[in-house]
Amino acid sequence: MPEYDDNNIFAKILRGEIPCDKVYEDDHVLAFKDISPQAPVHILVIPKGKYVSIVDFGAKASPEELKAFFSAVETIVSEQNIVSEGFRSIANTGLNGGQEVPHFHLHLLGGKKIGPMVSK
Ligand code: 5GP
Repeated sequence: MPEYDDNNIFAKILRGEIPCDKVYEDDHVLAFKDISPQAPVHILVIPKGKYVSIVDFGAKASPEELKAFFSAVETIVSEQNIVSEGFRSIANTGLNGGQEVPHFHLHLLGGKKIGPMVSK
């Protein structure tokens, strides 16, 4: 597991050094619009704790953090009105997963048909 890099862009957003278009925040979770949206709704949900990936988050997060994360997802998709028509959630991980930012984030994409699960 790579070490957490305090200089990654989402760490800077969490510290308030870089602005974001926030859609949700609580003690453990922040969610904001992706800067380069791939769908009408494209939100990134991140834990406030220092977790590199979904693997790191699953291994080290407390039950409270885990619960807060998935409760936040439920709140966000409900507020964004993308539950009934459906949406995609993606957690790119590591090199083969194409993860660009090494702070765990869940993409939520909706508002249109997202297309094939994996492009060739
Ligand atoms: P990854 O490829 O790591 O799964 O996704 C990283 C995502 O972060 C990309 O979709 C990219 O557009 C988004 N992103 C990168 N830098 C910023 C930023 O400064 N602000 C916001 N809101 N999104 C960013």
